Amino acid sequence: MAKYWNADIECMSREDMKKLQSERLVKQVKHVYENVPYYRNLMDEKGVTPDDIQSVDDLHKLPFLSKADLRDAYPYGLLAKPLSDCVRIQSTSGTTGRRVVAFYTQHDIDLWEDCCARAITAAGGTNEDVCQVCYGYGLFTGGPGLNGGSHKVGCLTLPMSSGNTERQIQFMRDLGSTILCCTPSYAAYIGETLHDMGFTPDDIKLKAGIFGAEPWTEEMRRSIEKSLGIKAYDIYGLTETSGPGVSFECEEQTGMHINEDHFIPEIIDPDTGEVLPDGTVGELVFTSITKEAFPLLRYRTRDLCVLSRKKCSCGRTLIKMTKPMGRSDDMMIIRGVNVFPSQIETVLIEQGYSPNYLIEVDRVNNSDTLDISVEMSAEQFSDKMKDIQDKEKQLAGAIKTMLGISPKVHLVSPKSITRSEGKAVRVIDKRKLHD
Ligand code: ADP
Ligand code: ZN
Repeated sequence: MAKYWNADIECMSREDMKKLQSERLVKQVKHVYENVPYYRNLMDEKGVTPDDIQSVDDLHKLPFLSKADLRDAYPYGLLAKPLSDCVRIQSTSGTTGRRVVAFYTQHDIDLWEDCCARAITAAGGTNEDVCQVCYGYGLFTGGPGLNGGSHKVGCLTLPMSSGNTERQIQFMRDLGSTILCCTPSYAAYIGETLHDMGFTPDDIKLKAGIFGAEPWTEEMRRSIEKSLGIKAYDIYGLTETSGPGVSFECEEQTGMHINEDHFIPEIIDPDTGEVLPDGTVGELVFTSITKEAFPLLRYRTRDLCVLSRKKCSCGRTLIKMTKPMGRSDDMMIIRGVNVFPSQIETVLIEQGYSPNYLIEVDRVNNSDTLDISVEMSAEQFSDKMKDIQDKEKQLAGAIKTMLGISPKVHLVSPKSITRSEGKAVRVIDKRKLHD
């Protein structure tokens, strides 16, 4: 069984990788400077020319691009190839309300699918596998990306898209799916539905899951692994850089290897833009060095994580990024304290609750309120008011220990919180309505 999709690249020496990246970067900067007036203007304003970029060490000289630039330049302003050379458009899911369209040549599609093939191979996938893709198909990159990667690996591909969960399980059983690709919140829902239909992990053949497109905690990982009887691998990407497959997890499950031959990562201080050393938390920035149609240089993802060059037991030399703890704009400031939804999820699962919850933040009489509705399982449910109040108090205490501020916890009845088939919406911040 092949352990790597492309061992030459995935296990390349640092020195060779740096050389490859430098060659590609120099070429890419010229391509962008000559074909994207929007970025040329940014470079001119900064007084940088393509001649100033001789290797990856010069990367920091280039200007950043942000989501605001993508909005300004919508739809064609960052296109670097004639439309007649492009074969595909994809778009962001608009989680943060601002859609972005990205363009692909056939070469861009090939390299993207290749990145996804690396991820599937790292999760143990081969042409013997049946790969059920339940990410959404369409403009969203999840379905098309993993679908293409699955074809490359030669898996028997089930292009299910998301939704109709009982049918997903029926196909999974009838056709013997061995690999599941979807968002982690949908994987949790599929696991729950399997159980509700009276099945156990022994009734399905799944061995691995490739889950991404939204933040998820280690606790969530273990819970999904148990409910489906699989090993769960993380995958990361964003429409602006192709889609899923920018980085992927190996069997060590300690962060995702970045496909550095296509994307050069940097971590910056989100406030000052200063490049931070490996091992420091900051905003992830990517430079696409091989994409033709939509080659973003120094694109600020707003995702917060840490880069690590620690040797990995899988043999890959590609740098690793930790699970993004959320986007800088997922962070809520509640009563002056920084809060990520993932911190709350960690406590809930540790305390034995399911990952079905909803966080509501509001401002009442100039003071922030934090309400967390958490679903009880049928076993946790009680008709004694006092029992429930005690549990709510106990959970609120555990969350206070984690966050430093007290929430109001509402334990709600089983199955009362809407399940997600794609990216879960876990936070309603009503303060924004008042602003
Ligand atoms: P949108 O920005 O509308 O959600 P995308 O579908 O392109 O559009 O989503 C990309 C974003 O999804 C990333 O910037 C990141 O915030 C999030 N994401 C993707 N994969 C992961 C992952 N494995 N862990 C955490 N967040 C992820
Ligand atoms: Zn590894």
